[in-house]
Formats: sequence, C-alpha cells, structure tokens
Amino acid sequence: MPHTMAILLLTLLGLAVGSFLNVCIHRLPRGESLAWPPSHCPGCGVAIRWHDNVPIIGYLALRGRCRACGGRISALYPIVEATTAALFVLQYLHLGWTPLLAVRLAFSCAMVVLFAIDLEHQILPNAITLPGIVIGLAASLLLPPGWRSALIGALVGGGVLWLIAEAYLRARGIEGMGMGDVKMLAMIGAFLGWPLTLLTLVAASFAGAIVGLGVMVVGRKDWQYALPFGTFLAVGAVAAGLWGQPVVDWYASMYR
Ligand SMILES: [Zn+2]
Repeated sequence: MPHTMAILLLTLLGLAVGSFLNVCIHRLPRGESLAWPPSHCPGCGVAIRWHDNVPIIGYLALRGRCRACGGRISALYPIVEATTAALFVLQYLHLGWTPLLAVRLAFSCAMVVLFAIDLEHQILPNAITLPGIVIGLAASLLLPPGWRSALIGALVGGGVLWLIAEAYLRARGIEGMGMGDVKMLAMIGAFLGWPLTLLTLVAASFAGAIVGLGVMVVGRKDWQYALPFGTFLAVGAVAAGLWGQPVVDWYASMYR
C-alpha cells in the first residue's frame, strides 16, 4: 500500500476508533453497556444524530454544545479522537505495515482510555488492565518483545510499583498509589518488555515530580489529585514504545 494512502487510512481509522474510545471512557467507570443505548447527550439524554457524531467535525459544527439542550460537550471528546488518530499514524511510521502494528494500535487505545479515565475518575478499570496483561503476554509469544522480556516486564513492572505502594503506605499511612497503577504497569510490561517498562516508570515518575513541583509552586493543593499517576504512566508508555529503544540501547552500551 502506498505510504500516503496508509497514513490517510490510519487517520480515518484512528478517528473512528477514537470515537468508540470516548464511549468506553464515558461508560466503563459508570458500569454502563458499551453497545446500548446509542450515543446520547449526558445532559438531556437526547440521542445524538449521526452527522453530529462525526469525529471532531461534529464537535466543531456544534461549537461544543448539545443541539437539543445547549449543554456543554467536554473538549475531551475531540481531543481523544485527534490523539487516537495521531497515535495510529505515529505507530505506523514507527513500525510500518507489520503484525506488531496491530498489537501496538490496540495498546495505544488502551493507554488513551486509561489516561482519560484516570484523569476524570482516578481509577484504572480492571476491565482494561487485566485482559491487557493477558493479551500482551499472548502476543509476545509470536512478536516482539518476546515472551521472556514480556513476562519479566509484567512481573518486575507490577512488582516494583507494588513495593513502592507498600513502602509508601507503611511510611505515610496513606495510600499514595492504588493497585490499579500496579496492574497498569504490569500490562505495560507485557506489551513493551522489561527495559522499556523501567524506562516508562522513570519517565512517568520524573514527569509526575515536575508537574507536582509546579503545582506546589502555584500553590494549588487540590491539583495534587487532578493528575493521578496512571495518566503519567500512559504518556510514558506510549512515548517509550515509540522512542524509548535508542535510550535503552545507549544506557546498555555504557555497561558493556
Ligand atoms: Zn443535551
């Protein structure tokens, strides 16, 4: 398939899938069905017309307001659609038209959903992380990073974070990190293998510390909870999957 055709195809696919991810993001934390009822305004419950439901364009045409009740539609909807499309194209540019591309597209989708749900609800649903661990390990039997690296990644990723969570709980007496973060990093390990998983953890911790310091400087204490760790893990994992391998290779070369 010609390069530009592939990019166009993945952009459209990403927008359509992103639209479905919005449904997951909105309904999973509320325990609602993903299939029924069809898309409706959370404010007034009126069904959304198909032409208003077209990714990004629908939001822009409505200027971010429901046609029926005029209630605000969250900007997260078009952002999720655009981000998913961008990630689909980036993964294609990184991997080409390979079997691993399909796996990484699914992984990207999971990271987008976990990012948004953790941001809004401060939870990371088992419905995504647990099947994620299984699917990541299963794919590793045939594809990179290979089953050994994936298995170690899942165990070390989950294990390290579990230890940190335990230590924090003992030292401070409060839960700094939930088991959701532990399962999420185990899932990342299953998909990316252990070196990129450790890189994800370092990058996410670093980004979290910088944002945390920024919040302290600004003096908004309530923001502390606005940016949960899963959101940083999601960004870190996607970045590590796309651009982390040269960093890992460079680090390994120092010890050779
Ligand atoms: Zn409405």
